[in-house]
Formats: sequence, C-alpha cells, structure tokens
Amino acid sequence: MPENILSSSWDIVVIGGGPAGLSAAVNAAVRNKKVLVLEHQGLCRKVAWAEKINNYLGLPAIAGKDLAAAYIRHFKEFDIPVLEKRAEMIVAASNGLMINIGTGDIQASAVILALGVIFQQALPGEEHFLGRGISYCATCDGPLYRGRDVAVLAYGHEAVEEANFLAEICRSVYLLKATDDISGLRPEVRIIDKKPQAIKGDDFVTHVIVEGEELPVEAVFIMRPTLPAQRLLFGLEIENGFIKVGHDLSSSVAGVWAAGDCTGKPHQISKAVGEGATAALNAAKYLEEKRPGR
Ligand SMILES: Cc1cc2nc3c(=O)[nH]c(=O)nc-3n(C[C@H](O)[C@H](O)[C@H](O)COP(=O)(O)OP(=O)(O)OC[C@H]3O[C@@H](n4cnc5c(N)ncnc54)[C@H](O)[C@@H]3O)c2cc1C
Repeated sequence: MPENILSSSWDIVVIGGGPAGLSAAVNAAVRNKKVLVLEHQGLCRKVAWAEKINNYLGLPAIAGKDLAAAYIRHFKEFDIPVLEKRAEMIVAASNGLMINIGTGDIQASAVILALGVIFQQALPGEEHFLGRGISYCATCDGPLYRGRDVAVLAYGHEAVEEANFLAEICRSVYLLKATDDISGLRPEVRIIDKKPQAIKGDDFVTHVIVEGEELPVEAVFIMRPTLPAQRLLFGLEIENGFIKVGHDLSSSVAGVWAAGDCTGKPHQISKAVGEGATAALNAAKYLEEKRPGR
C-alpha cells in the first residue's frame, strides 16, 4: 500500500467501487475534492456479471462487462487512487472520520458508503454474540483468541488470508467452507465442507452447529465479502434493512452519505449512478460550507 494513503487526509473517501462508488468518486473529483476509493473485490464486479443490460438509457442491450469496462475507463481518466482493502470500521472523531482497514486507519472529512447489498442472511446467534465471540475482522480481534479454538466462515477468498493469520496464533482453526476459492490456505487450517446452521453459547460463543453436529470454538470470524453497514459504523440508522438516507442522501451520521443498492430498492444501475453523483455533490457542498472563513 502506498505509504502516503494512510498519512494523507482525504476530503472524501468512497467505500465501494461499483457504479454508485465510481459515480460518486468522479463527481467529487470534478468538484476538486481529494478522493480515495476503497474496494477490495475489484471495480464494477457485479455489473460485469450481467449478461445483457436492457434498461440503461442510451446504451441498449449492452453487455455487463462492456458497461463495467466503460465505467472503469472513464473513472481512470481522473487518476483517483483505489486502495484494495475492505473498510472494517468507521469511527466519527472530532476532526472528521477514521476508516479502519485492518492494517491502519485512513482519515477523511466525509465518507460516501456505496457498499451494494449482501446476499447472505445472518446466521442465528450472529447478532446475539457480536463482540462476544463473533467478529468480522481477524486482524482486529484475532489476538483476543490467542491459543484458543476458532472457526472462520469463508464466503470468499479473502477469508484465506484471515484464516492463515489466525493459524499463526490460535490452537485450532476450522475453515467452514462456503466458497471453493481457498487456494493458498495453510495446511494446519482444518477445512470443514459443511454448512454452518447456528452459533450457540451462553454469555460467549461456545460452539457452531454444523449440519447438526457441534463444533466447539470460542470465536467465529465471519468473512463475508460485504459487512453489514451497521457493523461498519456505530449509530448508522437502518430502515427495512437498508441505510436510511434523506433526499440529499445524507445518513444519520454527520459527514456520511450513502448511495446505490445499499440505500434500498430498486437495485438498478441507473439509480446507483444517480445516487452516487447526488451524494458526492452534496458531500462536496457540505465540505465547502464547513471550510474555515466561511
Ligand atoms: C447478474 C446481475 C444482473 C444484473 N442486471 C441488471 C440490469 O440488467 N440492469 C440494472 O439496472 N441492474 C442490474 N443488476 C443490478 C446492478 O448490478 C446493481 O444495482 C448495481 O451494481 C449496484 O451498484 P452499487 O454501486 O450500489 O453496488 P455494487 O455494484 O454491488 O458495488 C458495491 C461495491 O462495494 C464494495 N464493498 C462493499 N463493502 C465494502 C467494504 N467494507 N470495503 C470496501 N469495499 C466494499 C463491494 O466489493 C462492491 O464491489 C444486475 C445485478 C446482477 C448480479
């Protein structure tokens, strides 16, 4: 990671590199803001999955991969840096917002959440044991379980790095495999190719139920590609499962905007692009109004 990304102070950090995030970033750059995009899975990955898009005005029957390539080409003209890291936590501080990426913090005056949506349902027990054996970040919470038995619920390849790290410090690491993409996994990590059904315990996690059997562990690290937004930022209001935003796309937390699928239905590219632009222009206006001397 370039050293100056962590030491810089950014006007706007956009979390998510889908159509909403790239539209936000481009519009913030047009407004002369210093912008950084955080995207850990590749830009416009979901758009590229669509075989054919028939409802995007002006580009009839365009293949998803062609639209994604056009978005990325346009975005790259602005030389906006992209950091290939997942945002793990955002904390509102007196001097702005701190975004934790596991290996350090990034400072921003405003944040635009363009997170998309999560496909996987939460497991029974997940909410209940959050902070008491459930974690979404091995780098952050792994050391709490040094010498213990833990499980990693792997929905994507990024879980491999986290499981490997845990294997260095924990007694046993079980990888509950919900993805086939586990190349590079250390041999001491035990792969369990079964479906987790629930997380159980008393005050703290004691085991995971895996296809009817109990797997005794003291922590479960749930590695979904996308974190639930409310886990990312304390105090963020959620309504009907989506980030609650006003007409200007501001969220319930000062300095934080949201755009795209994460603000609600319809889950469509045109909505994501429009909301990204709106959020960026309103965030830029907010920063200009906050400038000292105004
Ligand atoms: C198969 C398929 C076909 C589709 N067809 C159409 C269609 O024909 N027409 C149409 O309008 N729409 C279609 N869609 C829907 C469209 O792709 C979405 O509405 C659009 O991608 C939403 O854009 P977004 O930027 O809000 O979210 P996304 O494109 O999902 O992007 C969100 C990004 O945020 C990143 N992210 C999330 N959390 C973090 C974090 N903590 N740190 C860093 N990065 C993070 C994710 O990795 C992701 O790349 C289709 C979708 C699919 C899957």
